[in-house]
Amino acid sequence: MLVERMRPFTSTIFTEISRLAVETGAINLGQGFPDTDGPASLLADAAHNITDGGRNQYPPGPGVLELREAVAAHQKRFYDLDVDPADVLVTAGATEAIASVLLGLCGGGDEVVTFEPYYDSYAASIALSGATRHTVPLRAPDFAFDPDELRAAFTSRTKVVLVNSPHNPTGAVFSREQLTLIGELATEFDAVVVTDEVYEHMAFDGTPHVPMATLPGMAERTLTISSAGKTFSVTGWKVGWVHGPPELVGAARTVKQFLTFHGGAPLQPAVANALALDDAFYDGVITDLTRKRDLLSDGLRAAGFDVFATHGTYFVVTDARPLGFDDGFDLAYRLPELCGVAAVPVSVFASTPEGVEAMRPLVRFAFCKRDEVLTEAVERMGGLRDKA
Ligand code: PMP
Ligand code: GLN
Repeated sequence: MLVERMRPFTSTIFTEISRLAVETGAINLGQGFPDTDGPASLLADAAHNITDGGRNQYPPGPGVLELREAVAAHQKRFYDLDVDPADVLVTAGATEAIASVLLGLCGGGDEVVTFEPYYDSYAASIALSGATRHTVPLRAPDFAFDPDELRAAFTSRTKVVLVNSPHNPTGAVFSREQLTLIGELATEFDAVVVTDEVYEHMAFDGTPHVPMATLPGMAERTLTISSAGKTFSVTGWKVGWVHGPPELVGAARTVKQFLTFHGGAPLQPAVANALALDDAFYDGVITDLTRKRDLLSDGLRAAGFDVFATHGTYFVVTDARPLGFDDGFDLAYRLPELCGVAAVPVSVFASTPEGVEAMRPLVRFAFCKRDEVLTEAVERMGGLRDKA
């Protein structure tokens, strides 16, 4: 029954591995969600908005004004970007922003350039739109792209280039030079840049996060997407947003209003307040995640994995071959039973034969967990050596 364009997408790896983790009682380092809740003030604000604040009915079309203003203020504060709150659209997480943008801008015959491996909803949303996906490989160990391969992916039909930095699943953070090249090609081929910056506050070791829209001339062709889920450890809230030039945001709004209409009324003003939290909060996110990244990366190395450097996000990618496991997909499904830990195979974030092959031995672990949970996971994986 299922329509042909959605047949490759019947389940997601996150659903499958999380179910496996629950069934086996494994520590779930597969699906990326924190095991602690976000800032107390955020939770209290949301509770107040529900019980006493009278914020439980449909919010206005583009999202509540407080949140649109807070997103604009956040972009000014962190990136010196001038954003008109009228050009911010609040969505049901970044996921709905991505879908609305692609459905609003692309159709049959159009092409979307993105990088492989990619966050899984990209492929599904591109397929829904009827456009064709052209991917540019990111290869281990540094997951950088080859500029010639990037250029070769663009054609006169390229409508959108979909960028994600800091990058899930690889943990790469695109440099200013890399982003500039993407921007130059988008300009040359008159494509819109859609940039998924949900991990914007998770770049480590002083690596700068460079928003695409801050590059010269790029704001006028860039749609910037982010969300509250990662920054404030509330992945289940699904409050996201997109901003950019009015005609591009308008295309997304047209679609979005018929996907969910509008949601998250009591959560939106709470997120608005959280965006204005002081620098100590944002610095703390980086300090905590840097420590967790090191804890897990060192532990995985000690357990026998090859571990690739993570510069951003809360994921670390490993190569399981030194342990005798050639197939990360197979390992991810066996890991809960072998040692009581769950992880996701990186090959599921690829679809070209070369991409799947290049990612075959790689497994992704999430480190957005309490230190003691990561320590326990590392201990459990200590016994993996003899189990291949
Ligand atoms: N983009 C990327 C790269 C992600 O990792 C995620 C989180 N799963 C999303 C988008 C979706 O964000 P949200 O939960 O706000 O829909
Ligand atoms: N973004 C998270 C991850 O990559 C979770 C995504 C999801 O559950 N759909 O793990």
